[in-house]
Amino acid sequence: MIDTRNFYIDGAWVAPLEGTDLPVFNPATEEPYATISLGGAADAEAAIAAARRTFPSWSMTTPAERGEVLRAILAVYEARAADMAEAISTEMGAPIDMALSDQAGAGRSHLKAFIRALDAFEWQRPMRPGTEGQDLVFEAAGVAGLITPWNWPMNQVVLKVGAALAAGCTMVLKPSEIAPMSSILFAEIMHEAGVPAGVFNMVNGDGPGVGTILSSHPDIDVVSFTGSTRAGILISKAAADTVKTVSLELGGKSPNLVFNDTDIDAAVARGASFCFANTGQSCNAATRMLVERDAYERAVEVAAATAEATVVDLPSKSGGHIGPLVSQVQFDKVQSLIQAGIDEGARLVAGGTGRPEGLNRGWFARPTVFADATQDMTIMREEIFGPVLAMMPFDSEDEAIEIANDTPYGLAAYIQTGSAERARRVAARLRAGMIQVNGAGRASGAPFGGYKQSGVGREGGVWGIEEFLEIKTVSGIIDDA
Ligand code: NAD
Repeated sequence: MIDTRNFYIDGAWVAPLEGTDLPVFNPATEEPYATISLGGAADAEAAIAAARRTFPSWSMTTPAERGEVLRAILAVYEARAADMAEAISTEMGAPIDMALSDQAGAGRSHLKAFIRALDAFEWQRPMRPGTEGQDLVFEAAGVAGLITPWNWPMNQVVLKVGAALAAGCTMVLKPSEIAPMSSILFAEIMHEAGVPAGVFNMVNGDGPGVGTILSSHPDIDVVSFTGSTRAGILISKAAADTVKTVSLELGGKSPNLVFNDTDIDAAVARGASFCFANTGQSCNAATRMLVERDAYERAVEVAAATAEATVVDLPSKSGGHIGPLVSQVQFDKVQSLIQAGIDEGARLVAGGTGRPEGLNRGWFARPTVFADATQDMTIMREEIFGPVLAMMPFDSEDEAIEIANDTPYGLAAYIQTGSAERARRVAARLRAGMIQVNGAGRASGAPFGGYKQSGVGREGGVWGIEEFLEIKTVSGIIDDA
């Protein structure tokens, strides 16, 4: 067992003051392989105090100085990319190639985008051209509490830490207790990169413990959270008494609208594969596929064939397969939601409950496709966070949009059509923060976030930095002639 009980506070690894042990499991073997400590109030207090003490000096650094620190972090992060991929793959089950290119790669890409945004940002500017003596000044918002989940661990950690650092905030990170190993490595990277003591602090813990302290503590000014809508609501309530800025990146149930004026086979195969990627554990997964009726049966065939062709295998193996779900809890949840789909009468056309053939150990699930889902079914309403696709036909553009928007979430939406005019028209009516047409990727540094119960605020690039800034107006200073 690896002993990773210590926390990173004020530039040093320190023993927990009142922690309780928690094993970290390898989802491919179901075996514990490391022990972390879930910190208590005294540990969280120590980290918050370090961040608070360091805020006056760090917030007064110049943007150029902070840019240098971000560049140093990027260099060490790149040098340790293979270790990072290994840590992520072992803690949450992402296959090793994907863990390197996509999971660890996301952290690198965000760091680069923050450096670009920081270099271009105007920290002080006139309110409008010609408004002499009416200045806007952008300043660090204070001490940040950062709470992250397990599904894209470095993506989410770097989105928060990189933005907070660029803004001039000091911070306490509480990573997911289910996938903490990548964050422990990240803290080592921060140390090696020479981030000044107290700027970045990391305490492991659970939601009710360290999570609640970070979201309610009077010395925390900004809380940035990614995870379930359930926890996001609790965090907002905990933060209300001390009137903190709260940004939330929560769940999704994103629709994929497939119109018949496109290459159906390619669009459906792409959409289903995207749904199964990361074993379905992505907040922006395209989990509801809506298909124009005359292309629907063909689409169901293609989606089922895509599920059957999706290889599930050990994360340690090289290749383009998918790995296990993260935990026993997640495995049980996905199984019960697949069962709910069957019980509520959706047509199971691929996969189902249980493990894929040949994998008797590990939290592996079967890529699953349901056809003929209806809007009221659990599989169309709840975020499953597993490799499960629900399909449903539509008769008109209006109906497709109505179904797409019929969800409490509004994170992402996907459109497949041969018509740019239709794509624009539909995109304008979808209540979601991120629209992707015909498989287009998102540019590095594009704002990530959602409408409705998918969250508040945006992460990434300049928009991510702005979440950690206050705007100050200064009126009446006229430069001496
Ligand atoms: P979670 O929301 O419970 O946990 C995410 C993070 O929040 C963890 O660090 C956790 O310790 C912390 N946390 C939990 N409760 C808290 C509280 N009351 N106060 C402060 N911090 C708290 O997510 P989970 O249990 O890991 O997963 C549950 C479900 O959440 C998943 O099945 C999935 O549907 C969803 N989820 C969504 C995302 C996303 O990116 N949108 C990510 C992970 C999980």
